[in-house]
Amino acid sequence: MRFTAYASSSSGNLYTVEDGKTSLIIECGVSYREMQRLLPKSPMDYDGCVYSHHHGDHYHPNAVRELTVRGLPPQCGLMFQHGETIGTMQVRSFPVKHDCRAHGYMFRGECGETCVFMVDTFYCPVVPKFSPTIVAIECNYARDLLRPGDSINDRLFASHMSLEQCVKTLQAWDLKATREVHLLHLSDDRSDEKRFVREVQEAIGLPTHSSPKRR
Ligand SMILES: [Zn+2]
Repeated sequence: MRFTAYASSSSGNLYTVEDGKTSLIIECGVSYREMQRLLPKSPMDYDGCVYSHHHGDHYHPNAVRELTVRGLPPQCGLMFQHGETIGTMQVRSFPVKHDCRAHGYMFRGECGETCVFMVDTFYCPVVPKFSPTIVAIECNYARDLLRPGDSINDRLFASHMSLEQCVKTLQAWDLKATREVHLLHLSDDRSDEKRFVREVQEAIGLPTHSSPKRR
């Protein structure tokens, strides 16, 4: 199982998950032309595209239109709430806690390896019933990097995951089979990439990677 982040910020999100036979696009939050530039192969060479919610940085109108007219319409989380299969990949969604209806995903590849993906959620309402091979989880801001009285703080508390909550979430999960953790959607000015990676890695003892804002 392989997870790759190509764009991860409030100006656009684009990820892929692959099991060796089936490759899926997760999020279509950049223009179609930008998808073509960022991905290693044509977007149309993927087997499906799923997205978490309707905010423009995850569901870019141009990408949605171009993918749809070409025959690869992005599919929302509700489609997968009872589990579906795309190619050799089992896909199940679960609701997360954002400021609109949004979903996280669990992917299980033909190889039996799994990936849990969760972005734009201030809290994780589920504990996976298995130990995921790959965890891709939002780590947006640290509480001590917020400016007191900043009006955006309340919005962040109710929509995005802090470093502190990210660590608590990971510590509550069974990570004995986990190979790597990817931190997603770091804030432009309320995060510290090196510190976030170091603190998560120290807390859980697993290889931890930050995701590029744009490759
Ligand atoms: Zn959002």
